[in-house]
Amino acid sequence: MSEKPVFDDIPEPPPSSRPERSGAPGSIVEREASDGSRSSAASPLVRDDGAERDKAEPLTAPPTGSLTIVGLGPGPAQWLTPAAQTAIDSASDLIGYGPYLDRIPARDGQTKHASDNRVEIDRATHALQLAAAGKNVAVVSGGDPGVFAMAAAVFEALEAGEPAWLSLPIAIEPGVTAMLAAAAKAGAPLGGDFCAISLSDNLKPWEVVTARLEAVLTADLVTCLYNPISKARPWQLRAALELAARHRDTGTPVIFARAVGRPDEALRILTLAEAIEAAASADMATLVMIGASSTRLIARPGDAAPYVYTPRSVTKSPCATSQGRT
Ligand code: SAH
Repeated sequence: MSEKPVFDDIPEPPPSSRPERSGAPGSIVEREASDGSRSSAASPLVRDDGAERDKAEPLTAPPTGSLTIVGLGPGPAQWLTPAAQTAIDSASDLIGYGPYLDRIPARDGQTKHASDNRVEIDRATHALQLAAAGKNVAVVSGGDPGVFAMAAAVFEALEAGEPAWLSLPIAIEPGVTAMLAAAAKAGAPLGGDFCAISLSDNLKPWEVVTARLEAVLTADLVTCLYNPISKARPWQLRAALELAARHRDTGTPVIFARAVGRPDEALRILTLAEAIEAAASADMATLVMIGASSTRLIARPGDAAPYVYTPRSVTKSPCATSQGRT
């Protein structure tokens, strides 16, 4: 288990009547008079739609902040959606892995809380605590936040956390995930059925990874491998590609798409046999895509890289492509 971050910047929860931002429809807000005085018993709480509060409603207001989990895309600013940008701009607090926060220019009145990339649950809990304390929090994630990323960590923390957090408005702003960015650079390799597997065995046993790989290779899906390799997991990618070679022709296209959209982007289109030998050259910024049996190249003149594509139509049974090789 990695080291726990120290969070010394969590504000005290506000008094239950503290006005902040209008919450979800129907939430109670307190009106503040122009002289700054707060509502009292003589000046009843009103709902944010202007209606008087029902006497049966509890006086304790639900948490008043909000939480948005924002996808930054694979890197370049032009791959950030306008909605994601708006969520970032309107946040009082940004939470995320340091390098992702570094992509966002600092602005007055906005606090950045950077953390290590292995402390997702702590980070998610911190975000929920800040939102419950009245902050408008944006948790930022590379690519899409729902793909092997922070959105699931936030819901894990929510499930295990304070019941009051369930009243928080939580929104997710999608981003361009690495496999879509990589596919767009290569041609149309995801034109047929495909799947995504994280090769990391930090959160699941390696036997589960290999069982799933067997299943999707047998089904003849294009297979995108996230988290293909790391210093702590140096051999798994080669093992996965060797497994693929038991189900696919060794000439099947394999894409190593590294740092797509960033200045150090590198796209390599290999055969499966070449990919096995090149496995150690991949890194954590690489998305590996193993073609289906129908995935093929269209050669281009000169030095231009070929297009990789998978036809939309399938004419033969996956069993016919895998049986006999396993
Ligand atoms: N939420 C992210 C994925 C997080 S898992 C997303 O939707 O893209 C981290 C893995 O994503 C990396 O190990 C790598 O396999 C892949 N990845 C992320 N950004 C990438 C990029 N710019 N180019 C290629 N692969 C990338």
